[in-house]
Amino acid sequence: MQGAPIQFQSSSSGSPLLDPFGRAITYLRVSVTDRCDFRCVYCMSENMAFLPKRDLLSLEELDRICSVFVAHGVRKLRITGGEPLVRRDIMTLFRSLSRHLETGALDELTVTTNGSQLARFAQELVSYGVKRVNVSIDTLDPDKFHQITRWGDLSKVLLGLDAAQEAGLKIKINTVALKGVNEDEIESLIHWAHGRGMDLTLIEVMPLGEIDGQRVDQYLPLSTVRQRIEARYTLHDLPERTGGPARYVKVAETGGKLGFITPLTHNFCESCNRVRLTCTGQLFMCLGQEDAADLRAPVRASQDDALLTQAIAAAIARKPKGHDFIIDRTHSRPAVSRHMSMTGG
Ligand code: SAM
Repeated sequence: MQGAPIQFQSSSSGSPLLDPFGRAITYLRVSVTDRCDFRCVYCMSENMAFLPKRDLLSLEELDRICSVFVAHGVRKLRITGGEPLVRRDIMTLFRSLSRHLETGALDELTVTTNGSQLARFAQELVSYGVKRVNVSIDTLDPDKFHQITRWGDLSKVLLGLDAAQEAGLKIKINTVALKGVNEDEIESLIHWAHGRGMDLTLIEVMPLGEIDGQRVDQYLPLSTVRQRIEARYTLHDLPERTGGPARYVKVAETGGKLGFITPLTHNFCESCNRVRLTCTGQLFMCLGQEDAADLRAPVRASQDDALLTQAIAAAIARKPKGHDFIIDRTHSRPAVSRHMSMTGG
């Protein structure tokens, strides 16, 4: 580890967080900013109104909330956004949270990124105990990449991947399956990712937030994609479960791992082990529901963690059983009004 971890605040250990359906909450995803240096067409509209900076939790406040969750049984933290690596001084948060890895209270500290800043931060992430990163890439065609991300530069992301692998990070590529956009590229993405020793996970587009186009025009069910892959490859189901909507297979021909995240065709809510914190301190107990609990007021009300702990326990006590997303011509409104960049993908 690089230097001594900065410790913002200590939290004593407490009882595990169990929701009304007996599911233990062991996974917290934290969106540290709603801003991003890309404008992916399925994620954001071109002219997004971002939150005023004063509304954001400070890095110290984020650390305090994460630490209370860790003290109550959360074993995995994923830092996301927006683009987490564009938040100023974000390495300070990784450095601080790394203390929970050192004590063994946390199993994994990880990040989901668009890769644009990885060349800069890969080494430092490793020094803070990060072992794996998820990098979102929907196409290997530079022009198409620019069209999808509006502002992104594929060559910069590929340099980031090189740096991450050189630093020893394991990489999972996340690809949103987009009708008529990258559906013809799925096989080449599998070969490319597996050829570089990276896992690949395909994601169904979800109806989150207003975008400029129609969701139904983007939506490609992964059941269709899987059928097409199975026509040419041998897929062996893997028993691995993450408590989320992902299912994994091994592709016999490449020897690599392929995931399917299917919140629409299968949501697997019954095994959900996660909650999501936004950069303003809203805790969403379900990605597909509007209900949220405010943790910013209790974190700011006192330096003691008692109020915060109570607010978290009350929130988990109302985690819903699940969600149903529907995308078709008769459901043109988003299922939830917030964008993925706010809740944290
Ligand atoms: N900026 C980081 C990144 O690009 O990975 C982290 C945040 S981004 C919101 C996380 C993931 O959500 C990305 O893989 C992105 O492609 C995906 N995503 C965004 N909006 C989505 C949507 N409406 N449906 C499905 N996936 C979405």
